[in-house]
Amino acid sequence: MSAGILALKPGRERSLLRRHPWIFSGAIETVRGSPESGGTVEVRAADGRFLAWAAYSPASQIRARAWSFDEAEQPGPEMFQRKIATALALRKGSIAAGTTDAMRLVHAESDGLPGLIADRYADTLVVQILSAGCERWRETLLDLLREASGCVRVYERSDADVRELEGLPLRAGALHGPAPEGPVGIVEHGIRYDVDVVAGQKTGFYLDQRENRRRAGLLARDREVLNCFCYTGGFTLSALAGGARSVLSVDSSAPALDAARANLALNRLDAARAEWLEADVFAALRRLREQGRQFDLIVLDPPKFAPTPKDAERAARGYKDINLSAFRLLRPGGLLATFSCSGGVSPELFQKIVAGAAADAGVALLLRERFAAAPDHPVRMEFPEGEYLKGLLLERR
Ligand code: SAH
Repeated sequence: MSAGILALKPGRERSLLRRHPWIFSGAIETVRGSPESGGTVEVRAADGRFLAWAAYSPASQIRARAWSFDEAEQPGPEMFQRKIATALALRKGSIAAGTTDAMRLVHAESDGLPGLIADRYADTLVVQILSAGCERWRETLLDLLREASGCVRVYERSDADVRELEGLPLRAGALHGPAPEGPVGIVEHGIRYDVDVVAGQKTGFYLDQRENRRRAGLLARDREVLNCFCYTGGFTLSALAGGARSVLSVDSSAPALDAARANLALNRLDAARAEWLEADVFAALRRLREQGRQFDLIVLDPPKFAPTPKDAERAARGYKDINLSAFRLLRPGGLLATFSCSGGVSPELFQKIVAGAAADAGVALLLRERFAAAPDHPVRMEFPEGEYLKGLLLERR
């Protein structure tokens, strides 16, 4: 049963016919009925034909998000159960047993569940409910997730700013089982991390970089490494485990650096090879140049500079700046692993920005590899926004 009908303007059905899940306010001709926030609406083309079942979000520019493009499949417990089971099966099939006990089980739109994030950290499930539609179905979704994942504890981290765009208050706390008393221990590719699911960034850890951390570790042997935006030490520990000669790790967050040092101590790695710097990376890169420092492997994994395409220009300046500075610190034969997690910057644009920085720095580079998010962050062809993380491995000639 739907509480309303969204009738689209002529021609605005096109993206829905391609199964893109977002319905922008500007595409809507009329709203019939009086749907509430998160309530189910039928989306219909100007000629009246059915397009999708969607969740209505009156406060957001993304006025509705499609649950299903099949008229026979209405949103409800059965549909959610099927979607969650499909999502979990995908992870089972794409992440080899023994790789890790921490992974993203549900990745929102990319798993057909707009606005729902569910990350497993060992036996703790951390959930973000980021859309009006998921908020409306929260009890159903949480029960199904707990059952399907088998996790003993569920903790909510719906304290991301995007909630406000949906007109929802920020919210966090234990939902099932006791609140975690300390960090949750996980193992990723043989490396132990303590994850602070209560106060850490996002849900506590950047799971999307799992395979890229491993790759960087394999490249690190005997190299002097600079890890910029190190957070809790992911690339740092991978590089040390991979036999790096030394790793200098930079982040502006003191709690992140404390956690990184604690993570280093959890693993049997030589702390004497690790150097830590609490600083703004933009400034730190310049200072390192003044000091005449050089490195054989540099990782640049900055935070999101451009959440949407309209921020792309400002973001481009930021990417160009840090990449240009990094090239100047790279020895010939040295490697740069450079990333962007900005949804507003496409992989093509990112490559262009980095190429521009190389030209300005006057360095010749080989594109050795491309990076993407780990397979628990799937990309649907019909939802290219899901391909937010991209990276390049470059070798200085
Ligand atoms: N590479 C990490 C994740 C990086 S997240 C991993 O694999 O886990 C981005 C990090 O950049 C955060 O820790 C944040 O504290 C830090 N950060 C954001 N802006 C910064 C700046 N201007 N200078 C230094 N660190 C910054």
